[in-house]
Amino acid sequence: MKTERPVRVRFAPSPTGPLHIGGVRTALYNYLFARQHGGTMILRIEDTDSQRFVPGAEEYILESLAWCGIEIDEGVGAGGPHAPYRQSERREIYLQYARQLVDAGWAYYAFDTAEELDALRKEYEQRGETFAYNYSVREKLPTSLSLPREEVEARMARGDQWVVRFKMPENEVVEMDDLIRGHVSVNTSTLDDKVLYKSADALPTYHLANIVDDRLMEVSHVIRGEEWLPSLPLHYLLYRAFGWSDVQPEFAHLPLLLKPTGGGKLSKRDGDKMGFPVFPLFWKSPATGETAHGYREDGYLPQAFVNMLALLGWNPGTEQEIFSMEELIGAFSLERVSKSGARFQPEKAKWFNAQYMHRMSDSELAAIYQPVLREHGIEVSDELAGRAAGIMKERATLTTDLWGLTSFFFVAPTEYEEKQTKKYWKGDNPAMLSALREVLAGIDDFSLENTERIVHAWIQERGYSMGQVMNTLRLALVGAGKGPGMYDITAFIGREETLRRIDALLRNVKPIE
Ligand code: GLU
Repeated sequence: MKTERPVRVRFAPSPTGPLHIGGVRTALYNYLFARQHGGTMILRIEDTDSQRFVPGAEEYILESLAWCGIEIDEGVGAGGPHAPYRQSERREIYLQYARQLVDAGWAYYAFDTAEELDALRKEYEQRGETFAYNYSVREKLPTSLSLPREEVEARMARGDQWVVRFKMPENEVVEMDDLIRGHVSVNTSTLDDKVLYKSADALPTYHLANIVDDRLMEVSHVIRGEEWLPSLPLHYLLYRAFGWSDVQPEFAHLPLLLKPTGGGKLSKRDGDKMGFPVFPLFWKSPATGETAHGYREDGYLPQAFVNMLALLGWNPGTEQEIFSMEELIGAFSLERVSKSGARFQPEKAKWFNAQYMHRMSDSELAAIYQPVLREHGIEVSDELAGRAAGIMKERATLTTDLWGLTSFFFVAPTEYEEKQTKKYWKGDNPAMLSALREVLAGIDDFSLENTERIVHAWIQERGYSMGQVMNTLRLALVGAGKGPGMYDITAFIGREETLRRIDALLRNVKPIE
């Protein structure tokens, strides 16, 4: 039985490109778990693989987490008692731990060059076998297990490159526990001797740095993607080799995010093919200039995005689907995270966004809509921005829909949709619109209710059809057959603008013969 200790979790991404939404979900579950237990959320950047380092990726990670409302208590960007939190800045820590393992017989030095290993692999392939660096070969290859000590020292002294490999035991069953998967056991004969440290760049590999840092940073729970489950036996053995088994973290491996079609891991290609983002924010590769869509730029609200992600792999056990971050913190539990992969549904992401859009108050809408209006050169009060968006929000799925749905509130039509023009700009309608113009010009209180009352009475008195009047007026005010109720528009744009738009249609568009 482990003793209770403070909950300390970490999100430990490698800055190798834009953060995939699966990574955001891992961060989110860590955050929910930390907050629920009054624990600490750590952000550690695992950048020991210099080959795969991508400039800008770390900033992207920080910005993505901030956009989602995932707060970091300790780590890169926040500081803390175990700083630095970027592994490349902790490099001098790891060598001593690698040495400690060699000295205790848990690891060894290996001098094979990349070419030698390639040649070995080919040789095995030709015999129809697969080469594995493990107990069967380590004493025959140039390692500190096969070479005399003086030779090892001589090679190091003359600057030959070496790595430290873990000496995976032969035929031992490792018994492991996972908070999601339960008990797992693996025979070590199926595993190879992973590289832990490389002299070439004086850096540890993921496995060593990850275990050492989780210990030094007193991590209590490791919540990460399922792709790391195959590394778990090695991690257990590393904890044992260091003598840390009784303080090692508990593990929870999260199910994969699957393609919308179900088979296989969700990839950028799926998103490109089906037109949905697999990244939280827009990304442009500094190296290739290649770009990728992001939820933020594509018009998703962070609350909706987070809500959608939370339910991809976890369920609350009730019918509830809409959860604020606070509610998620209250409801989340690792026990209700599923073992099987979670199929990503792009339509569901849209559904969540629409739900959040529909629930927004006018002032919340104003905050997201004002920047869009400004981009279109429109300066209006928050009141008007929020009111326009509020009138149309029920028809919006994404925030990027708002402009198309509301632009006529702010700009008069300069073109008239052909279909509507052909249908309504003919016969009695131009004369009727002229007459309606005079009625409208005489209304002082241009409020929705008053205008509606007066115009309705006039329509009845004249014996016009309601559709005929409203559609002709719509053509004048919107230029198309869309938009909310006509009096929402007249009240919004006001009397002078209403008259101006009617005059423009009368003046500029010849009625259809
Ligand atoms: N750096 C690893 C990654 O990018 C972290 C895995 C872990 O959480 O142990 O996913």
